[in-house]
Amino acid sequence: MKNVVLLGSTGSIGTSTIKVAGDLPDRIRLLGLAAGNNTELLLEQTRKHQPEVISITDPVKAGELRDSLGTACEVFSGADGLLKLATLPGADIVLIAIVGTAGLQPALAAIRAGKDIAVASKEILVMAGEIVMSEARKYGVRVLAVDSEHSAIFQCLDGKPASSVRKLWLTASGGPFRTTPKDEFPGITVERALKHPSWVMGRKITIDSATLFNKGLEMIEARWLFDIEMARVGVVVHPQSIVHSMVEFVDGSLLAQLSTPDMCLPIQYALTYPDRAASERVQTDFPKIANLTFEEPDLDRFPSLKLARRAGEVGGTLPAVLNAANEVAVETFVNRRINFPQITETVRRTMDRHKVVPHPTLDQILKADAWARSEAAK
Ligand code: NDP
Repeated sequence: MKNVVLLGSTGSIGTSTIKVAGDLPDRIRLLGLAAGNNTELLLEQTRKHQPEVISITDPVKAGELRDSLGTACEVFSGADGLLKLATLPGADIVLIAIVGTAGLQPALAAIRAGKDIAVASKEILVMAGEIVMSEARKYGVRVLAVDSEHSAIFQCLDGKPASSVRKLWLTASGGPFRTTPKDEFPGITVERALKHPSWVMGRKITIDSATLFNKGLEMIEARWLFDIEMARVGVVVHPQSIVHSMVEFVDGSLLAQLSTPDMCLPIQYALTYPDRAASERVQTDFPKIANLTFEEPDLDRFPSLKLARRAGEVGGTLPAVLNAANEVAVETFVNRRINFPQITETVRRTMDRHKVVPHPTLDQILKADAWARSEAAK
């Protein structure tokens, strides 16, 4: 039985995690749940799964939840609430699925409290991969991947060291504009960008999948998770999203992990690792899929990949700047104040103006994040 704390329980990853916990009641106990604003869903999840502790951003909403739940469960709020949950004495693993940067401090607190962490929020490793991985080594805890690509690589590596790897291949669906001509990019609407061909996900990551910034963030995430330099992290476009990623070993052999796309699978693997638990949820029908195809990503139409490679290669505070500028640009695009290509342009300009701090402290990373947000907003 794993005692799990789930941060971001009301989101896309959060609700999939709740389904996985429902599938495996003998293996997974939800000890703590945290949400942002969705009081109703958090209340429903709490009544059904009876966690010991929950948390919500707004203290007023926390008061309302206390009134509804009585003494059945402790209710916290805000950033302190997330830290309380991340360090719960009874928790074995903390799954972090909060969109944005709010998951970083809880991730570090969980590690320092000796908990394994399962990371969906890619911002954590993009911003502070060096610190997070070195703290995890220091405290002897695991950092498990929830992202389907990194889970695939983790499964293919199966404990082999970076020295046995020639290249990690992240697959990308290519997003909704894989075949859209470049001259149509300025006219892309928010509605079209929110229609992903193979995955149903939260709003921010869906836009990131359309610009391919999502793949760029994943390249940096892979660099830290698997302790491998950026030059050995490649991207290949695979529109069917059946091959979730691949490892090319030094002898030329390749291992891939395949399945019908469903986030429940990597979530379940992270929560049951090193075991595999029986589940009927994901079925893969090869004759029906028929074709698996692969293409080179088009760096001219999707320059986000070049920016992410540069950020990962330069390192220091630059990945945090890329991440923060992208968050601001995505929000501004969703609010219809910039067009689609201007998302990448905003990130590029912000990165160009940044003075990189090498091997930054957490404080320097947070300062770079704040600087990039105000610079990108300009
Ligand atoms: P969603 O937008 O669907 O969900 C975000 C979750 O975070 C919600 O539960 C939201 O609460 C909660 N939240 C936001 N801010 C806070 C806060 N300050 N404190 C507590 N909770 C907060 O996002 P996704 O589930 O799609 O993505 C979550 C993370 O996982 C992202 O970093 C994304 O990149 C990553 N990821 C997602 C994948 C996917 O398939 N969706 C795949 C791989 C990675 P509320 O709704 O109550 O406001």
